[in-house]
Amino acid sequence: PCRGSWSSDSSDSVISTDSGNNLYRVVLIGEAGVGKSTLTSIFAGLQNNLENWDILGEDTYERTITVDGEGATLIVMDTWDNKGEDNWTQDHCMLIGDAYLIVYSITDRASFEKASELRIQLRRTRQAEDIPIILVGNKCDLVRCREVSVAEGRSCAVVFDCKFIETSAAVQHNVQELFEGIVRQVRLRRDSKEV
Ligand code: GDP
Ligand code: MG
Repeated sequence: PCRGSWSSDSSDSVISTDSGNNLYRVVLIGEAGVGKSTLTSIFAGLQNNLENWDILGEDTYERTITVDGEGATLIVMDTWDNKGEDNWTQDHCMLIGDAYLIVYSITDRASFEKASELRIQLRRTRQAEDIPIILVGNKCDLVRCREVSVAEGRSCAVVFDCKFIETSAAVQHNVQELFEGIVRQVRLRRDSKEV
């Protein structure tokens, strides 16, 4: 119901019959300790309703959500810090995502600088592709420990041509919005390819 006027009814029905179009692999990357696993588990609803979730592996979760009236199945991969397992090297993580959440902590400037490095690395790895990315400043509840301002986060996202959001996994602020936002970013690119 909430689609843009340029998207006709007929193309909608084509999309909805092809479930492959609505399955998105979302990979969280960022320095250890910034809150990737906590964000994932909040979105996964691991704190409350377990039955909503298919746990595909220790750090991979699948959940279907409705965004703007359309379903999207997210495979959320929190595999970045699994350095021990050969199958999940960071190089592999850079290759398999349909979309990325680059997470830093607003209380840790080094993690913010790392986020920039990761953005550059991702661009290099996936050169020809226009990959949906959201830069995520997590731990925004820790106002007294803030080392990275909102303005810095926002301008970094402008430079790196991606979206920006501040979240708090601890107080569950903007977590749902984050995952809905990445679905919208994937769809924007999908829909512009179809026109
Ligand atoms: P990861 O290494 O990126 O997966 O980070 P974790 O999810 O394991 O989180 C690292 C630590 O930061 C844990 O002690 C979390 O409880 C804490 N943490 C994560 N997100 C937040 C947040 O939004 N606010 C606060 N205050 N602490 C957080
Ligand atoms: Mg973790």
